Amino acid sequence: MTGLNALWLFRVGGVVLVGCTVAMAWSALDNSLHRSATADESLRRIGSFEIAFSALSAIAAERQPTEALLATDQRRDDAELGRMRTARLATDRKLTRLRGLPENLEPIVAARLSFVEARLAAERQRVDAMVATPLSARRVGDQFSIIRGMISISETAEPFVAHAATAVSDTDRGLAGEVTMVRLLGALHEAALRLPSEVMPTLAAGQIIPPDQAMAAYRTQQRILALWDVGASQIERDNQDSRFAPALEAIRGRYFGTGFSFLSRIVERQSLRVNPALDIRKTAELYAETTAPIAELRDFYVERMIAQAEMRQHESLLAMLATLGLAATMVAAVPALAWIAYRQVLRPLLQIRSQIQAICDREPRPVLGDAGTVPQVRNLVRAVDTLWDREHEREALDVERHRLAERLKMLSETDQLTGLANRRGLDLALSAMSAQADDSLGFILVDVDHFKSINDRFGHSSGDRVLSEVANRLTHVAGSDGMVARYGGEEFAVAVADREIGTLLDLAESIRESIEATPVVVPTVGSIALTVSCGVAVESLPEARWDWLVEQADAALYEAKASGRNRVRATNGILRRWGPAERAEPDRQFPITEDAA
Ligand code: GH3
Ligand code: MG
Ligand code: MG
Repeated sequence: MTGLNALWLFRVGGVVLVGCTVAMAWSALDNSLHRSATADESLRRIGSFEIAFSALSAIAAERQPTEALLATDQRRDDAELGRMRTARLATDRKLTRLRGLPENLEPIVAARLSFVEARLAAERQRVDAMVATPLSARRVGDQFSIIRGMISISETAEPFVAHAATAVSDTDRGLAGEVTMVRLLGALHEAALRLPSEVMPTLAAGQIIPPDQAMAAYRTQQRILALWDVGASQIERDNQDSRFAPALEAIRGRYFGTGFSFLSRIVERQSLRVNPALDIRKTAELYAETTAPIAELRDFYVERMIAQAEMRQHESLLAMLATLGLAATMVAAVPALAWIAYRQVLRPLLQIRSQIQAICDREPRPVLGDAGTVPQVRNLVRAVDTLWDREHEREALDVERHRLAERLKMLSETDQLTGLANRRGLDLALSAMSAQADDSLGFILVDVDHFKSINDRFGHSSGDRVLSEVANRLTHVAGSDGMVARYGGEEFAVAVADREIGTLLDLAESIRESIEATPVVVPTVGSIALTVSCGVAVESLPEARWDWLVEQADAALYEAKASGRNRVRATNGILRRWGPAERAEPDRQFPITEDAA
């Protein structure tokens, strides 16, 4: 299995990272968009709820000036008429807004709203008709009928509020408490307004309240107390808002302490006997004023509900902006960081790896690109530079060592005095020569005659000079064909390949002649005449062997010495095999081929 590729891993990792970042950013953005949409929707629903609720309140509020007018003579009270008209206009305005809400455009809802409006119009007509009638001609029963009709309009419109309230709670569960409180306080306010309606026409007519009306009023009182029971305990729990405690006290003190108990006592007394001194309009006005704290507290809850929804909208907007910023930062930063990590770390590391590889493989140094600015990576680059320096030093040392080895080899194969190959060098050269030769191998041994006496007569250093000169002449005469070596002491060897005996004997003779012909001149000593004796041997391949040839040449040299020196000799065996008949002298074991003597 091939190992994981770092670059591949990095690329795949980068793509996965960017993908995950985009997905995460998208998810967070989607989430905050959803939250923002919910907050917007919640605000819109609250708006609808407020419109429905205020329409319902307006219908209830219209009752109060209406009831007052029913109990008064219109001709004496234009102000009351004005109040009623203002109240009607307010109701109409709010119903128009309610009709304009998108959720109320549905045919079935619109039809219900039309029904409410139609009933309201009918009741108003009845009110107008009665107001136009002189006070004395008005019947209490008709007044009750109108007032109950108006109360039932409020009840018909109630589902709009209930529906809008459910929509608010459904959109934002956190607002359910506020919605319930608004509805509860709304119902309390409505019941509080209804309480005088139960008895007002009778009181205005100056009659004793009949038991059925007293019971109806009593029922409404029970309802008010029951609603307040629930409401008060909830409001007490909502003590985090500083406005609520004074509002609670105002309801307790002003409404229940004054208006409610005052009206309850009036109902109680007037059901027994008529009090002619009772100013019924004043009583209605005073009572209506004491219901104001209930409406105020209800409006506090509405405000709080709106404030909460707005806060949520604001928060979700902030969250969305923060998410957007974060997402943008992530989407921009992750690829940028990946690119920086690639440029600053991975790419230099890969380059360093190829540098180290090149050092290991002894290849030329690859060009190193920008190493970036990361200190650890730069340290690595410096370490690789050091490795390269060491590598260059090692290369230089290798060259020097090779040179020394070559020199050592050369010295071990070379004779220092003459510069010729020594025995060792000769052996190596002979091996190479025998490998290259095609036909034959030839060997000549050359020995300086009476060399000892040269040493004795002219000194050892002069003897050295003579040996040097002999070497030069041998090299010169043998030319490029022959391999000349110092065989030992004052003996020299000439090895030649692919030459027949005649050529070899001629070469040996040329050597002998060149030495004899020209004495060696040694400064401070003068000319030293000398001669050499040569032994020649040759053999054809593949039988030819150097040790045998050396043996034969040595034997021939021995014969040259024995027969008087300064001559060339070859063994009879060789001559018989190779040499021309006229050169052989059968009476002698070692015939002289060339006799210089
Ligand atoms: P022959 O004609 O029988 O060869 O007589 P020879 O004197 O040449 O032979 P011998 O073997 O008796 O003596 C060789 C001498 O060569 C002995 C030795 O001191 C001398 N010799 C050997 N190597 C060197 C050298 O490198 N330098 C000098 N100056 N003399 C050397
Ligand atoms: Mg010798
Ligand atoms: Mg000698």
